[in-house]
This record gives sequence, structure tokens and C-alpha cells, in this order.
Amino acid sequence: MSAKTTQFSTELRGQYNAMAYAADGAKSPLAPTLIPRRDPGENDVQIEILFCGICHTDLHIVRNEWSAVRTVYPCVPGHEIVGRVTKVGSGVTKFKPGDLAAVGCLVDSDGNCHECQTGFEQFCPHMTLTYNSPDVHLGGITYGGYSDSIVVKEHFVLRVPSNLNLAGAAPLLCAGITTYSPMRHWDVTQSKKIGVVGLGGLGHMAVKFGHAFGAHVVVFTTSPNKKEDALRLGADEVVISRNTDEMNKHVNSFDFILDAVSAEHDINSYLRLLHQDGNLTLVGKPEKPFAVAAVNLTFNRRSLSGSNIGGIAETQEMLDFCGKNNITADVEVIPIQRVNEAYDRLSKADVKYRFSIDMASLKS
Ligand SMILES: [Zn+2]
Ligand SMILES: [Zn+2]
Repeated sequence: MSAKTTQFSTELRGQYNAMAYAADGAKSPLAPTLIPRRDPGENDVQIEILFCGICHTDLHIVRNEWSAVRTVYPCVPGHEIVGRVTKVGSGVTKFKPGDLAAVGCLVDSDGNCHECQTGFEQFCPHMTLTYNSPDVHLGGITYGGYSDSIVVKEHFVLRVPSNLNLAGAAPLLCAGITTYSPMRHWDVTQSKKIGVVGLGGLGHMAVKFGHAFGAHVVVFTTSPNKKEDALRLGADEVVISRNTDEMNKHVNSFDFILDAVSAEHDINSYLRLLHQDGNLTLVGKPEKPFAVAAVNLTFNRRSLSGSNIGGIAETQEMLDFCGKNNITADVEVIPIQRVNEAYDRLSKADVKYRFSIDMASLKS
């Protein structure tokens, strides 16, 4: 976080030990440990964590692979958290013990900047990320969801619809909101033709949302063997992106394309597919800058933009939408003891489509 966060003083507060899995260094595997959690304060909610999704970001942060972010060790990752409330502070009004609850990528923000006041906490210059951010309560850094419990300020705790499968609901807190938010912003609705580039953790959620919004969903993939699965998830068409003839059939026809690919690729071939005022939004983060031909933006007045998770109110809206439409991520549930193996598989994109850790395994 920025240096500004040092303006907060560390509070003197009681704490307790929580069980967790942490990495001690970029090359160390995740291993069991005990971490401090603060005793819940007046506006805090204490949650017993039931499931935590494994996001690609977890792997990058644990291995210290992002030049823009320095990882502080020990690192306890995890920002796709679903659980049950065990204790609330006296000032908490939205939750009581026994309620289902969820926590995503953020656990705090300053609450008074323009972004916070307009519901965009994810862009607050003083936000606190769920892990690897300075912890203003206990000092040190925040620890994420690969743990048996977490204590979070009420404003950053989400309600979980009771009909949802909890293992599949966990990834909604990052993969879900990351795709839902730009699709809402760019008005993906019935009769719109939309594209999803890349069918991974993010892409498979985008297909489900696009289908639920009533749009005509086209999945772009390099792997012909993903075709059937894309159709099962709700796609109306699947285009093999290496096939130029197939791509050319869709020139100037899309309202919106969500690009969820983090590997190097040519976005010009997708910009060409947008019709007038069409938009391509990036949610993947390739390391190398893109080369964009200006003519692919000037013609048809196309736009290229990006998006990053969503604010707290919109994350709740997304969860409620998922409850009404019974949408969850497709997950492979694993015990925490298999987390290192899961990381190796995730780095080879060998998962359909998200790992979700059953946190009850932490006690075994
Ligand atoms: Zn994430
Ligand atoms: Zn703010």
C-alpha cells in the first residue's frame, strides 16, 4: 500500500491465534502455522471460514511474481472467502452469529474519499487488501482466507444467499465480481452479442453471467476441446480464435468483449470484431504491454478499457443476483493439505474452473 497508510496508528487490542497456511518465502511451499487475528471490535464481524477459493493472484503473490507488489512473508493468501459468523461487535447491525457471510479482496478503505463515497472502494487510494496489506489493527500485514477464521469490519462483509453451494460461492468474491462488474457497466443485456476471450476461472463466470443476462454469448478459445464445455456453461457459439475464416465471420458484430486472458495475445484481432461504439474490457493482466493499431479504435468509435473487481454494494448485488439465478463457480474442492499441488496445476491451467479449499480440513 501507499506510504499514506502509516498515518493510522496501531490500536492496542486483544488478539487470538488462528490456524492458517502460510508461505515463508517465494520458493517455500504453503505450510500450516498460527497467525494472530484481532478480537472483534465494535464494528467487526468474526467469521469461521468454511471455503476459500484459489485465485491466480494468490499464486502470483505467494511466489512474489508481480514487480508492482512486494510480498511480505509469512504470506497467508486467499480473498474468496465464505463462512459463518461466530461473533459480532456491539455496533454491528447486518449480521448475527450463525449467519452466512463472505469476504472478497478488500477488508477496509478510508470511507471518505470520492471513490468510497460513490461505492468504488476498490479504487480507494487507502484501501486495505484482504492479504499482504499493512494491518492497521495489529501491525504487520493482513492475512487472507487460507485460515479457520477472520475478523473484518462489517462494511466489508457480504451476505451470502442461503441456496448457494458454498464451495462454489467462494470464487464469486473475486472471479465473480471481476466479470460481473464490467458486464453491468457496459450494459450487457438481452439481445446484446458479447464475446468472452479465454475460458478459465474468470471466463467461465463471464459465460454464466452473459447467459443469465440473456445475451448471445460467443466464447473465443484456442482449444477446440473446450467447445463442449463452453456450450454446457451457457455459450451460444464457440469460435476457435486461431481460425482466421471463423474470426472474419464476426467482424463488426459485437457489442462487448470481455478479455480474460493473462498470457500474451493479439487484441487487435478482437477489437476488429466490435461494431459501432463497441467495447473491449480487459480483466486479465498480461505482463507485456499491448500493441494496439489505432485504426482498430477509430473505426466504429470502438473503445478499449479495463476493470478491477467491484465495490462493496455491487459485490452484494452480484451475490444476490447469483442467489436468484442459482449461479456459482464450477469448482474442484480440495483439502488444504493439497494446496501446493493445486498451485502447480493452476500454473498449468489444469483446473475446471476454480479450486475451492474445504477449510474443515485445516483441523484434521
Ligand atoms: Zn482474485
Ligand atoms: Zn476511500
